[in-house]
Amino acid sequence: MAQEDIFKKLVSHCKEYGYVFPSSEIYDGLGAVYDYGQYGVELKNNIKKYWWDSMVLLNENIVGLDSAIFMHPTTWKASGHVDAFNDPLIDNRDSKKRYRADVLIEDQLAKFEEKIEKEVEKARARFGDKFDEALFRSTNPRIVETREKYDNLNRRFVAALTEGNLTELKQIILDNEIVCPVSGTRNWTDVRQFNLMFSTEIGSTSDGAMKIFLRPETAQGIFVNFLNVQKTGRMRLPFGIAQIGKAFRNEIVARQFIFRMREFEQMEMQFFVKPGTELEWYNHWKEARMKWHRALGFGDDNYRFHDHDKLAHYANAAADIEYKFPFGFKEVEGIHSRTDFDLRQHQEYSGKKMQYFDPEKNESYIPYVVETSIGVDRMFLQVIAASYYEEDLTKEDGVPDSRVVLRLPSVLAPVKLAVLPLVRKDNLPDISRKIIDELKFDFNCQYDEKDSIGKRYRRQDAIGTPYCITIDYQTAEDETVTIRYRDTMLQERVPVSNLRAIIADKVSLRGQLKKL
Ligand code: ATP
Repeated sequence: MAQEDIFKKLVSHCKEYGYVFPSSEIYDGLGAVYDYGQYGVELKNNIKKYWWDSMVLLNENIVGLDSAIFMHPTTWKASGHVDAFNDPLIDNRDSKKRYRADVLIEDQLAKFEEKIEKEVEKARARFGDKFDEALFRSTNPRIVETREKYDNLNRRFVAALTEGNLTELKQIILDNEIVCPVSGTRNWTDVRQFNLMFSTEIGSTSDGAMKIFLRPETAQGIFVNFLNVQKTGRMRLPFGIAQIGKAFRNEIVARQFIFRMREFEQMEMQFFVKPGTELEWYNHWKEARMKWHRALGFGDDNYRFHDHDKLAHYANAAADIEYKFPFGFKEVEGIHSRTDFDLRQHQEYSGKKMQYFDPEKNESYIPYVVETSIGVDRMFLQVIAASYYEEDLTKEDGVPDSRVVLRLPSVLAPVKLAVLPLVRKDNLPDISRKIIDELKFDFNCQYDEKDSIGKRYRRQDAIGTPYCITIDYQTAEDETVTIRYRDTMLQERVPVSNLRAIIADKVSLRGQLKKL
C-alpha cells in the first residue's frame, strides 16, 4: 500500500477509535487544532511520564518547572522572537495555496536524496553480495550528478536563509522549476516574512491593556526562572530544568495532521553548563536522547540525526532526531547548543544579573545552555505511525480474515488489559468484575462482555491493548484464566493470583527506564 494511503488510514483510525478528534468538529473544525479523545489522552500522558521520569527521576541534577503560558512581553523582545521568529511564505496565484518557501526547497532536496537512494537500492538488488555501496555512490555518474545538484541547491539555500534574502529564495524556487503540488504551475508571488506568534491583550482597555503573546516555546519560562531554581534548589552547574507545557505557533501551512499544529505541547529540558563545556554536553544529550527514542523498540534504522547547516541566531550547534514517517524522515526532536544567548539577552533587557556564582572558581558568569526539545504531539504521531499495522490473517482454508492492530509498546498503551467473560452468564461477569476490582489500582483496565470473543479481541487490537484476560468455566473451577497476547495472538493459562505480577512486569515504566 502506498505510504500516503497508510497515513490517511491511520488518521481515520485515530478518529474512529477515540485517539484524536478535530477541534470543534461540529463547526467544521479549526485548522491545525486537535483534541485528544479517551485513549489519546492516556497515550499522551504515558509519553509525558516516560519523558519526565527519564529526566527528573534518573538525573539528580535535573529538576522540573511549570511556568505560565503568558509572560511579560519584553521576554519575547529579548529572546529575538518579536524580530526574528518568522517563516518565509509564498503563494501560488493559480491554486491560491500558501506554502513555506523553505519547505518547498527542502522537499526538492528530499527528492534528490530519494533519487540517489533508489539508484543504490536498484544496484544492490542487481549486484547482490558483491555490491560495494561506497564505491557505487562515489562513481556512478547518475548519482554523482544528482549529488552535485543537491549540494549546489543546498549551498544556495543555506546562504539565502542565513542572509534572510527573500528575493533569492524565490529565485531558487524559479530556477529549480519547483511547481505548486496542487495547480502544477510556477505562477508564484514574491516571498514574504510572517511572524508566527499569536498575540492577545491582558487587562481591560480602560486601564491601558498590554499586548502579550502566547508563548511559542516553553524554554523562555525556564530561562527567566533560572536563578530562582538555582538558588532555591541550591543547584550547582551542570544542572537542568525540565518542563512540559503548551506552546502556540501560527503555522502558515498546517498539514499532516498533528505533525504541525497551531496549539501543541512541548517537553523541553534546558541544561546549564560551564562555558567551554557546551559541545561535550551537546554530544552527550544527542546520544542520550537518541537512546530514549530507540529504547521504545521501533527499529534503530528508523531514526537518524540531521545536523543543521543553518543555525538559529542563538545556536552554535544543532541537530534534529528524525523518524521515518510514512511521508519521509522528519524531525521529532531538536537538540540545540544555545550558548549564553538567552540568559545574556534577559540580563540586558531586564537589567537583572543572570549570573551563576561558581564556588570552585570563586567567580560569577553566565552559563551556557544545551537544550533538548521534543513535541508531545509529534512524538504521539510517531508512536502511532510506528505501531499501526494491517495484518492479513487468512489461513489455509482461504476464508479471508484480517485485523488492524496498534502494536504500541506496553508501557505506553492507554489500556493495559481487557477482562472478557467468555459468556454473559453463569457468574462469569461477576468473576471478571472481581478481577478488575483487584487490578484497577495498578493498571488501566477495561471490561467488555458484548459480541463474540473474536470481535472483542479485534476491538482491543485496534486500540492497542497488549493483554486480554478471558474468563471461562474453568476459571470458576480452578481460578485460572487465559491471557492473550496482542502481538502474537498466543494464549497462555495462568492463575488469577499471578496476573498482577505478570502484567506489572510487562508494563512497568521501571523496566523501560532501566533500558536507558
Ligand atoms: P519545524 O522545523 O518542524 O517547524 P522547529 O525546528 O521550528 O520545527 P523547534 O522550535 O525546534 O521546532 O521545536 C521543538 C520541537 O517541538 C520539534 O522538534 C517538534 O517536535 C515540536 N514542534 C514544533 N513546532 C510544532 C508544531 N507546529 N506542531 C507540533 N509540534 C511542533
